[in-house]
Amino acid sequence: MALPSLPAGTLDPGIYIVATPIGNLGDITLRAIAVLAGAGLIACEDTRVTGKLLKHLGIRARLQRLDDHASPETRARIIDEARHTAVALVSDAGTPLISDPGYRLVREARAAGVTVTSIPGPCAAVAALAMAGLPSDRFLFAGFLPVKDKARRETLEGLADMAATLVFYETAPRLERSLLAIAELWPQREVAVARELTKLHEECRTGTAAALAAHYATHPPKGEIVLLVGPPGEDEVPAPDTDALLRAALAAAGPGKAAGVVAKQTGIDRAALYARALELKDE
Ligand code: SAM
Repeated sequence: MALPSLPAGTLDPGIYIVATPIGNLGDITLRAIAVLAGAGLIACEDTRVTGKLLKHLGIRARLQRLDDHASPETRARIIDEARHTAVALVSDAGTPLISDPGYRLVREARAAGVTVTSIPGPCAAVAALAMAGLPSDRFLFAGFLPVKDKARRETLEGLADMAATLVFYETAPRLERSLLAIAELWPQREVAVARELTKLHEECRTGTAAALAAHYATHPPKGEIVLLVGPPGEDEVPAPDTDALLRAALAAAGPGKAAGVVAKQTGIDRAALYARALELKDE
């Protein structure tokens, strides 16, 4: 199939919000390629990252850095240029504005009467939601959780009654702490960790937050992550009957080993299980 190519200057003026791949370079639409090839200017988060994508696509273009620290003057210049030129807005990966720069530019461009259009494509939040098997009829995208424990907990508490699947962006080093915070607040809810989407080591793992925390404690995660939490209610994972599991394990092993086996099965803290196993053993 011939890829669309447009000589620079043949697109209508305006701002074109262009989604780019979130890993697999094949995930770029024909329209996105045409717009990147035809734009008079590409505003991008990082010129090196976008430069690599353009090189892969065989496109030469004029680039202008536009990150979260861009000055009002930089945005005003880009908006002015978009009155007579097609300006593409891209971020390092995925859909601009979704936990990425662009909001102020788009808002100010619209206010200035400049045409703004969207060239949709990859977005990690949507890709994860589509594959996690959690309710997808209502979802709330909440960006990155705060880093500090107290702020993270407060953010989660504020979302407790939301009757929707919650979608967060997460980083590998923080995943376990976030899962433990979720486990404490909502031990029954179904949680999904969607990692390295569209890449070689893509995975989507589901379970309770405690079970997932236990998994990632022994298999430290790498790469990029979307964390999803199912809504409160019918789809919650039933609480494991830990006493029954411990009794079964105690039939074959002592309290220490039994606690270890059940901790692996459920993701529940081993010390708490050990204390309970000692009680059950003496019953
Ligand atoms: N604008 C992007 C989008 O549309 O998805 C998101 C940019 S945000 C700065 C980067 C975060 O998105 C990562 O930390 C991760 O949480 C998520 N993300 C991006 N690519 C991903 C991938 N391939 N797999 C899983 N999560 C990804």
